[in-house]
Amino acid sequence: MTDIAVIGAGMAGLVCAQQLTQAGYSVVVVEKSRGLGGRVATRRLQATVADHGTCYLQPKGELLRRFVELLEKRQIVEVWTDTVYEFTADAGIYERASRSPRYVAPLGMSAIAKFLAQDLDILLNQRAIAIHPTPENTWRLTLESSNAEITAKAVVVAIPAPQAWDLLAPLGETILDAEFLDNLRAVEFSPCISVMAGYPATSQPLPNWQALTFVDDADLAWIGFDSSKRPHPQQPHFVVQSSANFAQQHLETQNLQPVGEYMLQRASASLALPWLCNPEWMQVHRWRYAFPIRSGNAAFLSAENSLPLVCCGDWCGGNLVEGAMLSGLAAASEINNQLQQVLLDNMKFLDFLTS
Ligand SMILES: Cc1cc2nc3c(=O)[nH]c(=O)nc-3n(C[C@H](O)[C@H](O)[C@H](O)COP(=O)(O)OP(=O)(O)OC[C@H]3O[C@@H](n4cnc5c(N)ncnc54)[C@H](O)[C@@H]3O)c2cc1C
Repeated sequence: MTDIAVIGAGMAGLVCAQQLTQAGYSVVVVEKSRGLGGRVATRRLQATVADHGTCYLQPKGELLRRFVELLEKRQIVEVWTDTVYEFTADAGIYERASRSPRYVAPLGMSAIAKFLAQDLDILLNQRAIAIHPTPENTWRLTLESSNAEITAKAVVVAIPAPQAWDLLAPLGETILDAEFLDNLRAVEFSPCISVMAGYPATSQPLPNWQALTFVDDADLAWIGFDSSKRPHPQQPHFVVQSSANFAQQHLETQNLQPVGEYMLQRASASLALPWLCNPEWMQVHRWRYAFPIRSGNAAFLSAENSLPLVCCGDWCGGNLVEGAMLSGLAAASEINNQLQQVLLDNMKFLDFLTS
C-alpha cells in the first residue's frame, strides 16, 4: 500500500514523483523498461554512448532554466552548441539566424533522468497492465512480469496518451467519465526512427556542425554529430532521425537494418559526406510514440468521477522535455489537491535536488 503509484519513469513521471515525495507522500514509480528517462534515452555502444531520443535541452521557461542551471553546477550537462544548422535541397547547409545554447549530458542524456530519480522508490522492468478500483476505495495496479500488485490511494499515469488509453479504456465509462476517455483518445503521436552509426577514426572530412535539421527532406528530419558531445571520443558517430512520414511507412517493418542503411545513404548524399553511408557499426531504434501531434490543452488530464487518477506527459499542454516536466508538476499539484492539500511549493523538488 502506498499513497501514490506513478506509472512511467520518463521526465513527467519522475518530476511528479519527486515533487510528491518531497511533499511527504509515499510514492512508488513503476517503469516497464530497464532504464530511466523514457524518451530521454541513451544507448551504450562500442565503448561509447549515443542519445537516440532527446538530443539536447533548450530551456525556454523558468522551470527548465533552473533545472539546467542545477545540472550544469553538478557537471551533468554542459553547452554543446548554440547553433543548429539547416539543410534544404536548394540552399544546402546554412546557419540558422537565431542562436541559443543547447545543453547535453556528456555521459548521455539519461544521466539527467538518473539525477532526477535520486532517492525515489522505482520498480524497473515492471509494466503496468491493469488498474482497478477496490472496495476499500483504493486503486489496485497489476504488474506484468511478476503478476505483483500495488495498492495506492492515487495513480498518476505518466505515459504517452495512446498507451494510457490502452491501460485505462478497459475501465470504461462506469468508472472513468466519458469526457476524460474522449480527451485521452483524441491525442495522437507521430513516430520516429533513430539510427546510431559509428565510423573509422580516420573518416574525413568531419562536419563543422554539431546538429542539423533537414528542412524539406521527405525522409530525414535531423542529424546530430553525437560523438562531439562526448569527452575524448575514439571515433566519430552520428544519430540520424527520420521524418514522421517515413517512420509511419515503416511502423510495422520487421527488419529495420535496411531502413537505417537507406537513411544513412540519404544523409550522406545530401551532406556531401561520402563515408557516412559506410558505418563500422549501426543500430536502429523505432519510437512508436515520439512526438505528440494532436495534444490536449490542459497541463494534466484528471478523471473526474473516480478515485484520484491523473494523466500527464509531454502531450498535455506543452511538448518536449520542458512540457513533460511542467505537466508532471501540474499533475503532482492536482494529486495533492485531491489528497491532503499539504502546502506544496511549485518547485519543491528542486530544493531537494539542490541540497
Ligand atoms: C527521437 C526524439 C528526439 C527528441 N529530441 C528532443 C530534444 O532534443 N529536446 C527535447 O526537449 N525533447 C526532445 N524529444 C521529446 C522528449 O523526449 C519528450 O517530450 C519527453 O521525454 C517526454 O517525457 P514523458 O515523461 O512525457 O514521456 P516518456 O519519456 O515517453 O516516458 C514514459 C515512460 O513510461 C513508460 N511506460 C509506458 N507504458 C508503461 C506501462 N504500461 N507501465 C510502466 N511503464 C510504462 C515508458 O517506458 C517511459 O519510460 C525527443 C523525442 C524523441 C523521440
